[in-house]
Formats: sequence, structure tokens, C-alpha cells
Amino acid sequence: MIKNKNEENYDVTIVGGGLTGKLMASILVNSNIIAKKKLCWIDTDNKSSIDKRVSFINYNNFLKLKKNYGCNFLNKNYMKISKIEIHNMNEKNPLNLEDKNGHGIIIRNDILKENLNFPENDLVIHKSKVASTNCDQLHRYLILEDGKKVKTSLVLSADGNSSLLRKLSKINYINHALNHTIISGYLNCKNFDMFSAKQIFLKDSFIGLLPYSKNMINFVWSLDNGILNKNSKFKYYNELIKRLNYFFSQENIIFISPKSKNIKLQIYPINVKYVKKPFQKRIALIGDAAHTIHPLAGQGFNLSIEDCFDVLKCLQNAKKIGKDFGEVSVLKEYNNLRKYRIKFITLVTTSLFYIFKKQKSYLNKLINFSFEKIDKTSFKNIFKILARGY
Ligand SMILES: Cc1cc2nc3c(=O)[nH]c(=O)nc-3n(C[C@H](O)[C@H](O)[C@H](O)COP(=O)(O)OP(=O)(O)OC[C@H]3O[C@@H](n4cnc5c(N)ncnc54)[C@H](O)[C@@H]3O)c2cc1C
Repeated sequence: MIKNKNEENYDVTIVGGGLTGKLMASILVNSNIIAKKKLCWIDTDNKSSIDKRVSFINYNNFLKLKKNYGCNFLNKNYMKISKIEIHNMNEKNPLNLEDKNGHGIIIRNDILKENLNFPENDLVIHKSKVASTNCDQLHRYLILEDGKKVKTSLVLSADGNSSLLRKLSKINYINHALNHTIISGYLNCKNFDMFSAKQIFLKDSFIGLLPYSKNMINFVWSLDNGILNKNSKFKYYNELIKRLNYFFSQENIIFISPKSKNIKLQIYPINVKYVKKPFQKRIALIGDAAHTIHPLAGQGFNLSIEDCFDVLKCLQNAKKIGKDFGEVSVLKEYNNLRKYRIKFITLVTTSLFYIFKKQKSYLNKLINFSFEKIDKTSFKNIFKILARGY
């Protein structure tokens, strides 16, 4: 039989050059379970498009990345978070969650990606996007925009929230628009505790504040679309700073626009996507392609990290008994390992979104009353466990 010179044959192919795709590639290269020429990575990300957002990584995921998966994080590259403060309108005091061991760390996405480095000749890299896919009993085929055809036993698709492969391989999901817009960026500040992260629930929006460096914080602002639709010339910085300085006036924490002109705002619509069965014949979804949640608890990439850990477990189990990596039993094992955690985090973050979005005054009083009670009981450990990871 004549082999098509444009067709290449692999055991596993990872699609996507975002955080999840790169982490999956790094974990598989370092695990040595797949021969160099049998692992393929479709990474079309342009090195010049630097992701300057930051991620909160749970302490447990951070420790595992360092100790079990050889990720070498330099101390100067991340900030440790030992306290999380949850603030609400008309509160007496915030709900304080302190953890002496640390809740987790804050790291800039581009620095995190650099820390996941591995020798690029330990796998085959393609720089062209996937345009279409089909499969037979033993293989899935990916047809790239440059005309190359990738033949592989298993595809791990980390192609993000708008995943093309999810659509092409007919994987169903629930898509729910939250009617909020996410605005993310940096602010300069004075008197902000550099070991604490803050989540503030206001009448029209939620603001997550993460310390980034001395006198600078990263914010994730989730704003009701109704406010944006009313004003076509909405001034993001002015409006945010007005809300924050008013809220923290008693504590003398002061926020100002960033001095550097290079810092740009990132603005996205936010939808929740829940994928009940994130696999099809010879393809499994990982990362945002498999679950998109509201960023209010900083858990989206944490779920993706856990996806990568669990994919590795399944592939190691398959290898031990000589099983084909793309067999349906391997895909089912992956789904069984992931399904409860993903459902739980999607449910918790979406419920928190709606509880705090309502902000009717009786509900707000109830929330503040509950926070006071929770603050005095061991029930608040549940929030700590959520923040630290499982
Ligand atoms: C403002 C904000 C703050 C956040 N903060 C946190 C946080 O603190 N902690 C946390 O855990 N999570 C956080 N998250 C969530 C986290 O950022 C995402 O979960 C994570 O970045 C998803 O990475 P991904 O690689 O799965 O997807 P993406 O980053 O979307 O990457 C998808 C990749 O697939 C590629 N691709 C797409 N289509 C194709 C194709 N056809 N062929 C080949 N390649 C393709 C794209 O080029 C891209 O490289 C936050 C999210 C937002 C919006």
C-alpha cells in the first residue's frame, strides 16, 4: 500500500497551544510513556501574542505540578496567597478565609507557560490549525489547514471555549449565557495586603482582586451587560476605580489607573458550558473545551490542570496492560474520574453567580447574616477546601 506523504501516524495528538494544551504536552513528554515520534502537538499560538492575565492555582495543584510533574517554578515568578477575603454590599465584616499553609499561588499566564518548557524535539509539532476531522475504527484523522493529514489513535482536544473539534465530532453540551461581561486588567494601588486575594460582590458587578507585585493588582471584573448597554462610552477604569475606592474608603486602600500605557484591558462575554460526556470516538476534550465556568472563584484552569493529571493516569493504566490509548474504555475511565468534580465546581460557581447577582435587599441581608455565622464556625472550612483544591 502506498503511504500518502502528507499523512503522519501518532499514538496521541494534542490540539491547542493555550495553557491546557501546553501543560498536557509537558506532562506527556516528561512521563516518557509515549515514544518521541509518536506524540504530536498542534500548537498554532503565536509567540508574540503574550497572555498577560494571571491565574490563581490551588495549593494542591501547585504542589503536584512541582513535585510530581517536574514543573520548576522560581520563587520570584509567583505570589503566595494565604488569605481570601469575601466582601459583600453593606457588610459588617468580610468573610475571612485564612490558611497558614497557603490557599494557592498567583502567576502570570505567559510566565506559567514558559515554566512548562520541555525539549521541542521530544515530540512532533505542527503549526497549522485543524480544519476538519473524521475517524475509522482504529484511528482519528485531523486534516490541517496546510493540507497535512494527522492519523492518530487518540486526540486530546484543548482547543478552548469555542472548540471546533467538539462541534465537528458532535459532542453535545449545554451553553448558558450569564448576561455579564468579563473585564480583566491591572490597577496600581496603595495599602493592599500582598498576601490576600479579595472577591467583592456589588449590586451590578463582582470584582476579583489578585495581588500581582508591590502596589499593583490584577482584577477580574464581571459586569452586568445592562450597565454596559446603557452607556456606549462606558469608561472602564474610571467606573471600576470609583466602585473600589468607595467600597474600601474605611480601610484606606486606594486604587488608581495603571501608569504603564502598555497595559491593555481584556474584555469577553461570559457563557457557562457544561459537557456531560466530553468524549467521542478516539477524541477526549480537556480544558475550556470540556468545561467553561465563571471566573469568580479562579477555578477554570485548575479544572484543566486536573484534567491533564487524570488523562495521564488513564494512559499509564492503558500502557501497563498494552491497551490502545484511544479505546473507548480509556475514554470512559477519564470521564468517570472527572465528572463529579467538574459538575460540582460548575454548580458551585454558577450558583454563587446567581445568589450574588440577585442582590435584593432581603437576600443581601441574609447573605451578610450567613457570612457572620459561617465566620464563627468550622463550616467555613468548606470554602478553604474549595480554594485549596482536592
Ligand atoms: C479573566 C479570566 C480570569 C481567569 N482567572 C483564572 C484563575 O485565576 N484561575 C483559574 O484556574 N482559571 C482562571 N481562568 C480560566 C482560565 O484562564 C482558562 O480556563 C484557561 O485559560 C483555558 O485554557 P485552554 O488552554 O483550555 O483554552 P484557551 O486558552 O482558549 O486555548 C485554546 C487553544 O486552542 C487553539 N485552537 C483553537 N482552535 C484550534 C484549531 N482549530 N486548531 C488548532 N488549535 C486551535 C487556540 O489557538 C488556543 O491556543 C480565568 C479566565 C478568565 C476569562
